[in-house]
Amino acid sequence: MSLDPAAERTGAQRAPTAGIVATGSELLAGRVHDANGPWLAEQLGELGIDVTHILLVGDRSDEMESALRFLAGAGVDLVVTSGGLGPTADDLTAAVVAEVTGRPLELDEHMEKVVGDIIARFADRLRWDADALAEANRKQAMVPRGATAIPPVGTAPGLSVPSGEGPHGYRPAVLVLPGPPRELRGMWDDALATAPLQALLARTAPFDETHLRLFGVPESEIAATLRAVGEHIDLAPLEITTCLRDFTLEVDLRRRPDDAAARAAHDAVVAEIDARHGRAIFSRTGETIDEILFGLLAGRTIATAESCTGGLLAGRLTAPAGASAHVQGGIVSYSNEAKEHLLGVPHDVIEAHGAVSPEAAHAMAGGAIERFGVDVAVAISGVAGPGGGTAEKPVGYVCFSVRTADGREIARDPVLPGDRGDVRERSVVLAMHLVRRVLTDR
Ligand code: ATP
Ligand code: MG
Repeated sequence: MSLDPAAERTGAQRAPTAGIVATGSELLAGRVHDANGPWLAEQLGELGIDVTHILLVGDRSDEMESALRFLAGAGVDLVVTSGGLGPTADDLTAAVVAEVTGRPLELDEHMEKVVGDIIARFADRLRWDADALAEANRKQAMVPRGATAIPPVGTAPGLSVPSGEGPHGYRPAVLVLPGPPRELRGMWDDALATAPLQALLARTAPFDETHLRLFGVPESEIAATLRAVGEHIDLAPLEITTCLRDFTLEVDLRRRPDDAAARAAHDAVVAEIDARHGRAIFSRTGETIDEILFGLLAGRTIATAESCTGGLLAGRLTAPAGASAHVQGGIVSYSNEAKEHLLGVPHDVIEAHGAVSPEAAHAMAGGAIERFGVDVAVAISGVAGPGGGTAEKPVGYVCFSVRTADGREIARDPVLPGDRGDVRERSVVLAMHLVRRVLTDR
């Protein structure tokens, strides 16, 4: 993604809150992207638990400890940790959680047997001797007093530690999960079934959510719209998040289902966005343009003719499983010769107007329709930069043509902002929206 998601959040109400701590020095070094924090945040959000912090810490007990204390100080109801749960010496999470929550580690004999059986299957590969194995089993089967062990998907059991009582207790409940994303996700349902999580979930009500997706509206305009609504109705009971992602403006509205003021605020916001930006709204349920196109293309066929995007559009159209039902193919015609020979763009058109021209894009789309025999074709030819721009055709000038076999066409030739990567990515998204427009007559 080439744009920083700029997220803004207003008016959260008091739902249970959670903080997430992902451990791993490789996360801090930037070698591995944290896949667990965002995933956990999404799951918790859907359950009605507000995530207020995601912390990344190294594999050191003092770093984990300070993160756990910080989150308790921030007042969260739940802390979820990922990583540092394995059998080796750098796996410290369980010990630190036991220490911070003031719950001594005790052997869970049932878990010792479960883990022992699992590790025995790995033993040959690990080449560990019997003593080391027994030691590893025991380490992984140690459970803070009063906590519940969660059966492993890999080798490490998770832990679910109840919320602490009394003035010196560690107040948040703590859920300890392993680092490998596949294991963490595989243990999630069992984690939710434990008593500490059930106690928390009893206090949540899932939110009513509206997910508006707009294309072609700058974030500043939505901000102005929201300010205008806020002048005549109180938006505080409604949680509004706006985020620019994939050149798409995402406006997410969340509210308690039983809150009449929140409902009124919601309806006013949606009505005003409809009135000012209705044409730009392409989804009200959070669907991506990719999902929408996939649906629209059912029963039709499509092909691409790409120059400056070098096949990125074809890559994106073929990303979902089942794309072969509608994608026939694509031609990356980067050179003038390729445009002429592979797509039949007339030499004269390129001579007269240039390879980056509405005329060339029109001919490229026509060539794709003819050569692939498709219902709809989309052509992109532009100046991605940083070199190659002229006064007449500056960097970012991109020509689009979307044509259908029955003779309709949408053509655009905007100057797109950003660096080379932005221009290419943005062209792909714009092209997908033009296809959507051709197929929906909007
Ligand atoms: P193990 O039993 O495999 O040691 P663990 O709970 O101790 O499990 P870690 O040692 O912290 O987990 O991480 C194991 C591997 O899982 C890491 O090398 C990394 O590839 C992956 N991993 C851990 N945390 C994350 C994360 N937050 N996002 C993506 N990958 C992660
Ligand atoms: Mg580990």
